[in-house]
Amino acid sequence: MRYLLSLLLLCTCLVTASQLQAAEPNFVIIFCDDLGYGDLACFGHPTIRTPNLDRMAAQGQKWTNFYVGASVCTPSRAALLTGRLPVRSGMMSAKRRVLFPNSKGGLPASELTIAEMLKTKDYATAAIGKWHLGHLPQYLPTKHGFDSYWGIPYSNDMDAVKGFPGYKQTAQKDPNYAATIEQYQVPIIQNETVVEKPANQRTITQRYTDKTMEFITQNQDKPFFVYLAHSLPHIPLFAGKRHLGKSRRGIFGDVIEEIDSGVGQILKTLEDLKLAENTLVVFTSDNGPWLLFDTHGGSAGLLREGKGSTFEGGMREPTIFWWPGKIAPKIEMEIGATMDLLPTFCSLAGVPIPKDRVIDGHDLSPLLLGKTDKSPRKQVYYWRSEKLYAIRIGPWKAHFITEGCYGIGPKREVHEIPELYNLDHDPSEKYNVAKLHPDVVARLTKIAQAHIQSIEPVENQLAK
Ligand code: MG
Repeated sequence: MRYLLSLLLLCTCLVTASQLQAAEPNFVIIFCDDLGYGDLACFGHPTIRTPNLDRMAAQGQKWTNFYVGASVCTPSRAALLTGRLPVRSGMMSAKRRVLFPNSKGGLPASELTIAEMLKTKDYATAAIGKWHLGHLPQYLPTKHGFDSYWGIPYSNDMDAVKGFPGYKQTAQKDPNYAATIEQYQVPIIQNETVVEKPANQRTITQRYTDKTMEFITQNQDKPFFVYLAHSLPHIPLFAGKRHLGKSRRGIFGDVIEEIDSGVGQILKTLEDLKLAENTLVVFTSDNGPWLLFDTHGGSAGLLREGKGSTFEGGMREPTIFWWPGKIAPKIEMEIGATMDLLPTFCSLAGVPIPKDRVIDGHDLSPLLLGKTDKSPRKQVYYWRSEKLYAIRIGPWKAHFITEGCYGIGPKREVHEIPELYNLDHDPSEKYNVAKLHPDVVARLTKIAQAHIQSIEPVENQLAK
């Protein structure tokens, strides 16, 4: 009898252990649009309040050298979801830098997204918010591994109606200017059907948050992945009633504070459902601030330039990882990138990383979990249009071509001798030290040339 009882106890323990091991972590990505490196209180903004993101950063990891795959929306999103440089998937073009409502292309079916990878382990998957990887039915999230989709298919300033005052001119005069909803006939799509047009952008941020919490609650008993891509603070700026007029920073601050409030609501949902210790939450943005819009655009803080540029302000983003009890709080200065999320999530979920294609991402999980203090990512390739403009290896960054922001900034310049900056000493890229370090310039140039050679030509999706 005693023997039987012991056996039963042992079996119970084994089942519990295997169940625990089998509990794949949940993943939540909260992705902003055009948020600058300097736009959060925890990244140094003096008049924007972000108490929830500040808490997330204090309890989690604040990454100060975290990059996107491109400095504008469409290619940056393609990079995040596929773990590949957008030039490899045809999602980057010199002719049109992003997709538009009359574009014919989109993320090819042959690409594998994070959602598709996690589907192999039966994750529940949802895309909520801005997509911008093709609005035609064959390119929507439901065709790329997401069980459901609710959001706008491209940028919130597209489908603009003529006859309204110009946004830039009005915004320059009024830091609190709020456009009318009818001015932008951008639709909301649920799965594959338009359910609202024009999208009520005044309530959209809270509705994205609500949909995310609803999805988490509904799927609390199985592993899930939510890709929440806020359509703001890309212009036109809209804030909900609870936040409008509240920030000292003006409407731009209202928008960030509403997003921050949503982050707090999502973290609380995870905590209330006792899911926080099995959920990795990542907060970042697709590209730097759109400086063309004055106070309606964000700030890259101490970084140079913004959206559209391959200077740091265009591609380095304020990034926070949160996983209570699993990742120790710290400020992480090692290099990471949105392209690393696919291999990192795959590794944590026990999904093999695709072997039939080049994956530009690296598995950051050993660094996140404290098993090492070095990032597997040593390099950043800064592509703009279809050209490699710059490269970073360790602290060194060489610019072969420089060009300012999207819409403003210095004109395109090809450098016979690349400009060289040490980003550890000089994050603002102020002091060109190429003459002092010709050996570093030569080494980086050689690595860049080999990288360019590795890119196979593919059909361009943005030029269609
Ligand atoms: Mg953007």
